[in-house]
Amino acid sequence: MNNPVLNRQSLPLFDQIKPDHISPAIESILKEANTLIESLKKKGATASWENFVEPIEIISEKISRAWGQIEHLNAVVNSDNLRKAYNDNLIKLTEFYTNLSQDESLYKKYQSLKDSEAFKSLTSSQKRIIDNVLREFKLGGAELNETDKNRFKAIQEKLAKLSTQFEENILDATNEFSIIVNNLDELMGIPEENIKKALADAKEDKKEGYKFTLHLPSYLPVMQYADSRPLREKLYHAYATRASELASPKFDNTKLIEEILALRYESSKLLGFKNFAEMSLVTKMAKSSEEVISFLMDLANKAKPFALKDMDELKSFSKTLNIEKLEAWDVAYVSEKLRQAKYSFSENEVKQYFPEHRVLKGLFKVVEAIFKLKIIKSDAPTWHKDVSFYSIKNEDDELIGQFYFDLYARNHKRGGAWMDEAISRYKNSLESSHPVAFLTCNFSSPSENKPALFSHDDVITLFHEFGHGLHHMLTTVDDYSISGIKGVEWDAVELPSQFMENFCWEWEVLKHMTEHVDNKNPLPKTLFDKMIEAKNFQSGMQTLRQIEFSLFDIKLHTEYSNQNKINPLTLLETIRDEIAVVRPPSWNRFPNSFSHIFAGGYAAGYYSYKWAEVLASDAFSLFEEQGILSSHAGQKFRTEVLSKGGSRPAMESFVAFRGREPSVDALLRHNGMA
Ligand SMILES: [Zn+2]
Repeated sequence: MNNPVLNRQSLPLFDQIKPDHISPAIESILKEANTLIESLKKKGATASWENFVEPIEIISEKISRAWGQIEHLNAVVNSDNLRKAYNDNLIKLTEFYTNLSQDESLYKKYQSLKDSEAFKSLTSSQKRIIDNVLREFKLGGAELNETDKNRFKAIQEKLAKLSTQFEENILDATNEFSIIVNNLDELMGIPEENIKKALADAKEDKKEGYKFTLHLPSYLPVMQYADSRPLREKLYHAYATRASELASPKFDNTKLIEEILALRYESSKLLGFKNFAEMSLVTKMAKSSEEVISFLMDLANKAKPFALKDMDELKSFSKTLNIEKLEAWDVAYVSEKLRQAKYSFSENEVKQYFPEHRVLKGLFKVVEAIFKLKIIKSDAPTWHKDVSFYSIKNEDDELIGQFYFDLYARNHKRGGAWMDEAISRYKNSLESSHPVAFLTCNFSSPSENKPALFSHDDVITLFHEFGHGLHHMLTTVDDYSISGIKGVEWDAVELPSQFMENFCWEWEVLKHMTEHVDNKNPLPKTLFDKMIEAKNFQSGMQTLRQIEFSLFDIKLHTEYSNQNKINPLTLLETIRDEIAVVRPPSWNRFPNSFSHIFAGGYAAGYYSYKWAEVLASDAFSLFEEQGILSSHAGQKFRTEVLSKGGSRPAMESFVAFRGREPSVDALLRHNGMA
């Protein structure tokens, strides 16, 4: 057992793990797991927590910890060998979990435990774990008769294929379109760097002129900056009709949407739900479509007057640009001009005030103050010299959790920012552990004579991921499957992360967190005020746009049935009649490229973006009432929300913290709509 992947005595041995260790480790651990599962199934005795659930909890934790290290290395120090070992073993693991989720005798054992007298005397956490597992089994079709089970499985497989095809059609439709502009005069207004790129792209195709496509880095600068209205219109038309009957028929998603909706509806009916939305909401904090719709309508009604004001301002400003009737392809362009006229400051100017050491100090100061913690630099084996490691302790020096910071972009590291679990908190009859988190970002690294400088967006990202980290690290739940973020409802996961973002917009925090890299002055208050105004620019219009998409998604998945085959475009128009202030042209085919809900995991869940924002803003408003760095509010957030993890419903945690159910008022205020 000298395989470092299987080490459980200390922190992960990142300085020792090599790609060659991976397959033997995963094979050994899966063998152990399979042997255990077989023996559990054979056991005649009635399933109990001790003889059945706990052994599964223990092996699940073992697999996750081993695999988590590999997944992490594959993401942050990728190499050919590592990628191969990762992909090979990912297949084995997926197979293992698929078998587990379809194992009928395991399902029956869980069910018999749930029905037994012994269930009543389990702790509420233990009960919750068993309920969660049973729910997963049911949503996977475990309770169906043979015929229905086969149909259910066939639907799932078909849906997976259709989603992939939906996404591929968008990609192909996007790739298919390009235009070449020969006359430089037509490109007036577009930033120099984008024009250079367009020239290079044309050259690559062995063409003269400038090539523009529907990929966002090429498309957006045209929509925002091109003075040529015909050019904007041409690109907008191509973009808005992608993957529809108005563009290449071979990439048309219209039929796929119909098929996806029909199959989703059928699968939900097989499981005994009224519609697909009801099925989707089972694992979410929102209890019903009605609750989601009334939440969205409440927000829409309150945001609409502000959106109308935004629109009026935009329309009258467009006249100064000689645009008499504002069209869809003018909105981004006129908005950008208006934004520049109202608050001009450069990202780069702001960046000079956020050197890494000040930002980290500021972040730690906030966390230490509100949660009464100490964050201390510590040592651990790492995968790269730029990685640092910290311990979080209570004021009495008790170790709570630890985390790795891997903040800079580099080659062979996946882009974006995320928090991942290195080790989860658990305590069982054999052993226990405190939680450890990976916090990964892709900020620019220090230069020779200057520290790393973060943009304000970077700082927000850092606070956001740290919020996820706190959810993972400050848990006090001992049961593995629901400690930290595990078991938290899908639409409540972003509460702690978005909550933390709010601190990046507080003067009391920023004035201590900033220091100009050269002259050492803090961020000027005047610049801060401009940043706030720019943040809330057109927030009414943006809010309504998000609500329009959310309502479309939830209503479509609620109202669609085999007897009532809703036409997506008609539904979207009805929603727009009610709430929209910006009306796209009738040929706009937005649903045909709405991959979040037709290809991604957001079906009957798109509302979650706004939902989580509301929870986060409302949670933060207690700090506004009690003091931004109030440790009283902080302790309450820690005990009622962060520490509870998935051990109780998120709504219960929220109400325990806030003293009432969430309200949209704080979000409206934070977005300048009060
Ligand atoms: Zn997040």
